[in-house]
Amino acid sequence: MNRTATDTPAKKLLLPLLTVLLLLVGFQSDVQAFKWETAKYKGQDHVTLRSLKTFYYFDKITEGTYIVLYRAARIQQGKKTPEIEMKFRSGSHSLVMNGVLFKLSHPIIKSNGRYLLSRTDLVKLVDPVLRPSHIKSAKSFKTVVIDAGHGGSDSGAVGFYKVHEKYYALKVARMVRDQLQKQGYQVVMTRDSDVFVSLANRVRIANKYPNAVFISIHFNSGGNGRANGIETFTISPVGVPHMGRGVRQGDFRMVPGNITDSASIALATAAHSRMLLYLNDSKYGNDFKIEDRGIKRARFNVLTGIRIPAVLVEGGFISNRTEARKVHSTAYQQTLAAAIVRAVNVYRKSITR
Ligand SMILES: [Zn+2]
Repeated sequence: MNRTATDTPAKKLLLPLLTVLLLLVGFQSDVQAFKWETAKYKGQDHVTLRSLKTFYYFDKITEGTYIVLYRAARIQQGKKTPEIEMKFRSGSHSLVMNGVLFKLSHPIIKSNGRYLLSRTDLVKLVDPVLRPSHIKSAKSFKTVVIDAGHGGSDSGAVGFYKVHEKYYALKVARMVRDQLQKQGYQVVMTRDSDVFVSLANRVRIANKYPNAVFISIHFNSGGNGRANGIETFTISPVGVPHMGRGVRQGDFRMVPGNITDSASIALATAAHSRMLLYLNDSKYGNDFKIEDRGIKRARFNVLTGIRIPAVLVEGGFISNRTEARKVHSTAYQQTLAAAIVRAVNVYRKSITR
């Protein structure tokens, strides 16, 4: 689906709101210690949106086609906290937070007149995004592991212009590396040439650096050439399947990626929101008019096996004629790289206590 002229006013409103992560301050209360209004639904623990409103000091909740929680910008303990808008829809996995789309692990449901959010989504999504400085698994770091997807005999997706995904992934990865190094980060590349690196080896390389974050760079294909937009993946919490498939027995086992899953959703939020912001605002280069496909949950090998905060970004559909032309341009690649670099800084600042 392409943006049309009628989308313009909404987009203007969206961009100043793109301030996630949100850095709420001013209350020490632990999510686990608060007396939530709870309910069971299909065996899952849930909390009511009304108690969510109380816990995070939202100003109001409106219930219509969308359920909207709103909190105005304010000064707390001498720090300015931004305006927050969370938009849910009953029965849907979508949550739009300050204009950024998240795919919930479980849908929002209405039961006995109350709207319910799963405890998994509260603890593994809402809280780390609203209060990144409370994430226990988030540690300071100065190393970034950059993973250019595919390589060598594994070409990845074939683009509309017959250029392979592995080529774009490496080009953008190198741009990210150069900028991060200039800022004083240590950068580790899982590959720096057109070679095949197994998924197991990518995991092994990342796990050598306990004080680091991992960013895997890919480009997408599918939808008979019609699909478009960017998406960002982070590890499925325990009990949550890989996006698009049913739950399996193995999904209930804790995997290495779950050790830092709250930190990973915060890193994914920084990456995804900055990519949207940079790619859709001429202030950062061009307005490339890129759709938001959301922050999603997956069980890709690199996400399950890596013990440090890890995300996988899909920087656009090279199978789509229009989007392939954008991705092929150096301007697009540079903007995407700049957004990823900015995200590393945003994430690092957000976890600082
Ligand atoms: Zn790929």
